[in-house]
This record gives sequence, C-alpha cells and structure tokens, in this order.
Amino acid sequence: MKISDKYSFYDENDIKIVNEIIKGKKLSGTSDYITRYEKKLASFFESKYAIAVSSGTSAIQVALYALGVRSGDFVIIPSTAPSMSIVSIIELGAKPIFCDTNENDFGLDLNDLEKLLSSKVKAVIEVPMWGYPTNVLKLKKYLKKYKVPLLLDLAQAHGTKINEKYLSYYADISCFSTHDRKILATGEGGFCLTDKKNLYEKMQSYIKFGNMNGVDFGLNFKLGSMQAGVGINRIKLIPKQLKERSKNANYLLKRINNKKIKEFQIVKNGSPNYYTLLLTVNNSKCKEFIDYLDKNGIPSDIKRYSFKVLYKYPLFKKYSRNCKNSDKLSKNITTIPVHPGLKRKELDYIINIINNYKIDE
Ligand SMILES: *Cc1c(COP(=O)(O)O)cnc(C)c1O
Repeated sequence: MKISDKYSFYDENDIKIVNEIIKGKKLSGTSDYITRYEKKLASFFESKYAIAVSSGTSAIQVALYALGVRSGDFVIIPSTAPSMSIVSIIELGAKPIFCDTNENDFGLDLNDLEKLLSSKVKAVIEVPMWGYPTNVLKLKKYLKKYKVPLLLDLAQAHGTKINEKYLSYYADISCFSTHDRKILATGEGGFCLTDKKNLYEKMQSYIKFGNMNGVDFGLNFKLGSMQAGVGINRIKLIPKQLKERSKNANYLLKRINNKKIKEFQIVKNGSPNYYTLLLTVNNSKCKEFIDYLDKNGIPSDIKRYSFKVLYKYPLFKKYSRNCKNSDKLSKNITTIPVHPGLKRKELDYIINIINNYKIDE
C-alpha cells in the first residue's frame, strides 16, 4: 500500500469565489478580497491584525524587518528549524545564531539561550515543528526581561494551542505559510499576525513598496486576490480538519503496540494540531525504522527533507554550533501522516506495519 503524505482536496466554494473574483476584474493584492481575508484570519486566529503575504518565507522576512532587524544584527533560531525559517535572516544581512532546544521538545533551551543573548540580538524565533507546541508562554516571560521580541514561525502550527490559547497569542509577531502542503492551503501564500498596531503598520508598508511614499523602504510581498479568495473559503474548513487529524492520530496511538515507540512528548497544557503525528523511537535504530516504513509505502518527513540540525547542511555550516539536545532529538523521531484524506484501511495498514517491526537494541 502507498500512503500519501499530502492532503489534496477541493471545495466547490473555492471555484465559486475565484470565479467571482475573476469576474470582478481586480486580481491584484490591493483588492477588497485581501482586506476581507485579513479580517477573517485575524478573527479566526484571535489576533488584532493579520497581513496576507506571498509566502511563509516572505512572512518571516516581513516580520523581521518590522522588528527592526537590519544588516549586522543577530537573530536567534532553534537548530531544529528548517531552512525556510532561516533564509530571510540571511537575506536581510543579519546573522542567524543557532540555539539548542530542550531535550524532549522543540522549545529553545533557556540555559543555552542565556549564553547567546546580547544587545545585538534583535529577535528570537521559535519553530514548533510539525505543529507540536512549545512552551512559548515561558519563553515570552523570559524574553520580556531582556526586552527582545519573540517571532513564532507557525507555518506548521495552525491551530496548535497551549493553555487553551493559540501559540500566536504569546508572540510579538507570528508567521504562517499557506503553501499547498499546510493546514490552511492557498497554493502559495502566507500571513503574519500581531496585536501591535505599530508592527502592523510597518509590515503593511514593507509589503507594498513602503506605500511608495519615497521615504520608507519596501518590497512587493503582496498576496494575489485569487489566492486570498481560496483562503477566505478555506478558513472555515480548518476546525473540521483539525478534528479529523486528531481523531486519526488518536486512532493510531491507541493501537500502536511497541514499547520502543511512543508519541513525541507534548509540553504541559499543550495541544498539537496534528499536522503530522510525530513519534519518538527510543532506540538507536530510528533510521532503520524510517527506511522500513518507507519501503512499505509509509513516507516520513525526516527522510523526505533529510531532516537534521540545520548547521549540518553546507549552506549553513559557517553558523555551526554544538547543539546536543537538538542533534539527539532530530535523530530519534519520525512523522506519520494523519491527514483527513486517509481511509480507515490505510490507518489499519500503518498500525500493522509499525506493530510488525521488531526493534531490539
Ligand atoms: C513551509 C514552511 C515555511 C515556508 O513557507 P513557504 O510558504 O513555503 O515559503 C517556513 N517555515 C516552516 C516551519 C515551514 O514549514
């Protein structure tokens, strides 16, 4: 059996709204549909302001720029982040500094963070990978002492909560992607959330050539109207999707029966969005386990993206640090698809394949 790791669907109303937008003959990123989309995003994610942008990567660049990150500044980022989280730091001429994560979650290790903070650090980024929550509340409190802003890369974490609140509640700015593989999918696209009016205004200006006032610098990171239309329609489909993902994950977890394999640790009071199910393989044979799953048609993001600490890639080697927890964490996990496109018999197949694997030391 071949299990797909991509959730593909379309909704009749996607076509209806795109049709309406095309007939309205205003397709650019300054149409009323953009404002409508932004209002819906802000309301759904319980934030004061939302800004629609062309991708998740541009969302991060826009956010960093608004937070004042310029050439020569430092930005702290977990070493378990994907390359998409770091490239904007480099593009702005700033220097990324890798921070270790906790032993059992993707949250920044505050002991390591303490060593890295200085007056040159203009922002700290946290990236809750695969939608598994980090203790952003604790991090926010900690950063407040140092007056350093917190940027959350929530590209994989639409709907992830801690203490019953979306993670974005605790950030100065949160960045999301709406790429085709993400939980809210518009093909390409992204958005930023913030509660702060001054940051909102800076971001709105930056994505529109600095409002072309000849004073403020800016680029073009606007989202097109047709993609906003798809987004407008699909926001309301998120809760049902999250529910089905959670149901599938729980179905698997109840039936996976292997002492060496358990769910990735969920931080206290956190609830993941089940972008994927993440398993911890308590054994040095994790890589072999992933290959076994792959051979049996069950894909893993770890293999697909050859996931490892980011400073091990040639492109980022010059920012290398020794992040022990991140390194260990990244070697002991695998993702399992739990999206709503999976049928009962596919879930049963996954359980069967996992339970038939003999792991011994
Ligand atoms: C997908 C993703 C991005 C980039 O989003 P794009 O829309 O593809 O530019 C950034 N960070 C993380 C964690 C992602 O998963």
